[in-house]
Amino acid sequence: MSIADNINSLKKETELINVTLLAVSKTKPVTDLQEAYDAGQRLFGENMVQEMVEKQEQLPADIQWHLIGHLQTNKVKYIAPFVSMIESVDSIKLLKEIDKHAGKNKRVIDCLLQIYIADEETKFGLGFDEAIELLRSEEFAALRNIRIRGLMGIATNTDNEKQIKEEYYELKTFFDGIKTSFFRKDDSFDTLSMGMSSDYKIAIEQGSNLVRLGSTIFGSRPKKNV
Ligand SMILES: *Cc1c(COP(=O)(O)O)cnc(C)c1O
Repeated sequence: MSIADNINSLKKETELINVTLLAVSKTKPVTDLQEAYDAGQRLFGENMVQEMVEKQEQLPADIQWHLIGHLQTNKVKYIAPFVSMIESVDSIKLLKEIDKHAGKNKRVIDCLLQIYIADEETKFGLGFDEAIELLRSEEFAALRNIRIRGLMGIATNTDNEKQIKEEYYELKTFFDGIKTSFFRKDDSFDTLSMGMSSDYKIAIEQGSNLVRLGSTIFGSRPKKNV
């Protein structure tokens, strides 16, 4: 199947159930992204700042770019002028930096808090308690140029479907609780980003409304870039 075929069939699969499809294009050449774009895809995800900037410069301006990888505070300035959403916010320090550069660019930048749900020490993200602490903090209350749109999580890389299901279930439950406690009157807290190629069907069953798909669309990547 071509990239365009993959986009078309995944769009059919997700649009009907109001799940947003993010095409994760990390490591892939701009010609691949252009093919997805020509098939109608507008939402792309990258995990490296420099790669995203280089691709953004070469591709159509109406692409919406999501950053999905760990972001260092000193790199926020490179993506602040154009990034559509930062899904990988994992500290108040980073959020303050995003707020600062969003302000400089006279923008409000949409963000997701990345929540640590996997049983793997290598993954980034806030613990449940840390996320609550962040949302309760005065530092957070003072930010004007960011908007928290929801949560993102990455499940454990395992074949154990029961474990993946439990991790996504916990994140959905936490999402509902956070919405009730902190965003009751804010309709823009609406995004739960869960699911990649290997587990997106489970994630959707558990309440995801944004799936991040790379290899299912573009084919596999070299191992070290997983
Ligand atoms: C690479 C990546 C994906 C997509 O992975 P696939 O298995 O290729 O679908 C999704 N989310 C994040 C955070 C990633 O880094």
